[in-house]
Parts: sequence; structure tokens; C-alpha cells
Amino acid sequence: MTATTTTTGPEPSASPGLPEPVGDPPLLEVRNLTVTYGGTVPAVRGVDLRVEAGQKLGIAGESGCGKSTLALALLRLLPATAKLTGEILLDGEDVLTMKWGRLRAVRWAGASIVFQGAMHSLNAVHRVGDQIAEPILLHNTKTTPAAARKRAGELLEQVGLPAARAQAYPHELSGGQRQRVMIAMALACDPRLIIADEPTTALDVMIQAQILRLIEQLVADQDVGLIMISHDLAVLADTCDRLSVMYAGRVVEEGPARQVYAEARHPYGRALSAAFPRIGDPASRRAPRGLPGDPPDPAALPGGCTFHPRCPVALDSCATEDQELREAGGERRAACVLVNAPAADDSRSTA
Ligand code: ADP
Ligand code: MG
Repeated sequence: MTATTTTTGPEPSASPGLPEPVGDPPLLEVRNLTVTYGGTVPAVRGVDLRVEAGQKLGIAGESGCGKSTLALALLRLLPATAKLTGEILLDGEDVLTMKWGRLRAVRWAGASIVFQGAMHSLNAVHRVGDQIAEPILLHNTKTTPAAARKRAGELLEQVGLPAARAQAYPHELSGGQRQRVMIAMALACDPRLIIADEPTTALDVMIQAQILRLIEQLVADQDVGLIMISHDLAVLADTCDRLSVMYAGRVVEEGPARQVYAEARHPYGRALSAAFPRIGDPASRRAPRGLPGDPPDPAALPGGCTFHPRCPVALDSCATEDQELREAGGERRAACVLVNAPAADDSRSTA
């Protein structure tokens, strides 16, 4: 395992406000990642991300913005019709150029994914204990089946289930219990990074909160990195350190999670946070406001800023001028022409 706090001398920080430079590469660094389905559907367009060990990055955005495509791309789990370009550096090693053998080793052990909807991700005809033991056996050729089963029981206890539940089939478990099994599987090979794609979306609110606390606690205990994907900005603001907001395959806003949630600099970020107010938070005591329309079909993206057809503060120029991420104050970046304009106020045209 790579140490992440090695310092190489009293070098000053490269730029004020940014994390201290460290000797090792970050746990995950994604550079200019593009995913195109079938040659014509650009579902992810030039995404940059960075996650340090022990850091929790949230990725927000409505359905269809490319979040799952991005998550699957990180471990090259996409169908063959998907063409990927860019770099996905996991501990400095590019996942996109890895040989198959190395890629198999990296899946589960380097990074693992918890999918949305555990019922579809678990095999209905195998006991859950055996399913947890499977990646352990695959990755540790010296491990015996008995030892792997024992470890599966321990993992179940770690996620708050009795070890005896290893004998259960998926249909014998509740939705929350199945999602705990998925998390136990994701932990099975001690990954350095856990990617959770809408891990609680199919669950009711109480169970959702329990699963989120469990993920948070596991991440804190094991010093792994976390990428948590959700359409719910409030959930991400509660759970994560940093947030990236995706729209039409791009990151349109990023920064410290609480800041992005409380005072997003991109009108899409503001619309998302207004749509998901945090219960009991006086800072967000606003009526939830729906954002009319849907994200664009990536096969037919509008010109200019892709958000302009839905944007309450769009200027005429937004229909023709694309926007890159730009500095937006307080470690934030946003891809909006109005970022540095005085008082960008969405109520101007929605009132
Ligand atoms: P999200 O997870 O944010 O809802 P997805 O990554 O699932 O978004 O989808 C992003 C876009 O890519 C959508 O327009 C979707 O229809 C398209 N897409 C997803 N999977 C495929 C696929 N296998 N082939 C073609 N298009 C796809
Ligand atoms: Mg998705």
C-alpha cells in the first residue's frame, strides 16, 4: 500500500488554498476522460477528477448526465461499443492502457463498485456468503475456500449483518440487507477506492440513512477513497468532502461539498440544490423548486453551453459560446459565463 503523506522536504505549497503537494500520486486522477457510445453518443466529455486516499468525492447530476458511464469507465466495465480516451490514473497507473491481467487484479482490489439496485447485481441462485467469497478466492490464490467463507462472515459482521446470513439467498434478504451484502463484497479485497453508484436510491429513507452512515464509517475506518454518485445533492453534501456536478457528460461545477450545496456558482448546481433541500437545515429552508425539462440527449447536444435551454439566467451568447470550468472563488470552479458577474440571481427570470 502506498503511503500518501510522505513529504519530500519543506517545499512551499504550489498555490495557496490548494492541498499540500505530496510525494505520491493521488489515489485517483482522471484526466480529460471521454466516453463515446457507438461512435455518436458522447456520454462523458472531457472529465477531470481527483481523489486522495481517505477523501470522499460526490458526483451529482440528474439521470442521463453520464454518472454511471463515468463510474463504469473507471474500471473499464463498459460495453465494447464504448470508446474511451483520456487517462484514468489509479495510484499513478493508467487503467485505460493496462493489460487484462493487471486490470483483473485492479478490479476489486484497487477499486470496487457498489451498484444501484443490489437485486440485479447479486446472483439469485447463489448464497450471498459464496458471492462475497468469490472475489476473495479470485484474488488470493493461496486462500482456501474455507478461509474465504470465514472472511465473508467477518465482512457481513462488518456491514452490520450476522455472519450466519452468509447462508441466505438474495431473495431472503431485505433491500437494505442486500445493499449491505453488496458493500461487504466491495470491501472483500481491501480496495483503495470504493465507487458507490446511487447506493441508496432504491431504499426507503430510514434505511438510506443507515447505509450512508455505514459507508461513511467504513471509509473513515479504512482510509480508502470514496466516489459517491447520486442525483441528490443534499445527500452528497452530508457525506462527501468535495463535489463535482455533472451535466450532459461534463463537470460543470466542483468544489468543497458544503459550499457547492449551499452556494453553487453554476445555475445547474443551484437548481439541483434547490430541488433537494436538506431537512432541518435552516440554511436551505427554501421550497424545492423543480427544474423544468430534462438533460439533453448526448446524441443531440444543444450548441453553446449545453445547459442554456434550461438556464434561468442565460444570456444570448450562451446559445453559441461553450463554457469551460473557471475559477469561481473558495476552491470552487464552475463552467458559467456569469461566474464572475455581480449577483447572478436565478430568481431574475424564474420569479
Ligand atoms: P446517469 O448515470 O447519470 O443517469 P448514464 O451514464 O447512465 O447517466 O447515461 C448517460 C447517457 O449515455 C444517457 O443518454 C444514456 O442513454 C447513454 N447510455 C448509457 N449506456 C449506454 C449504452 N450502453 N449505449 C448507448 N448509450 C448509452
Ligand atoms: Mg446512473
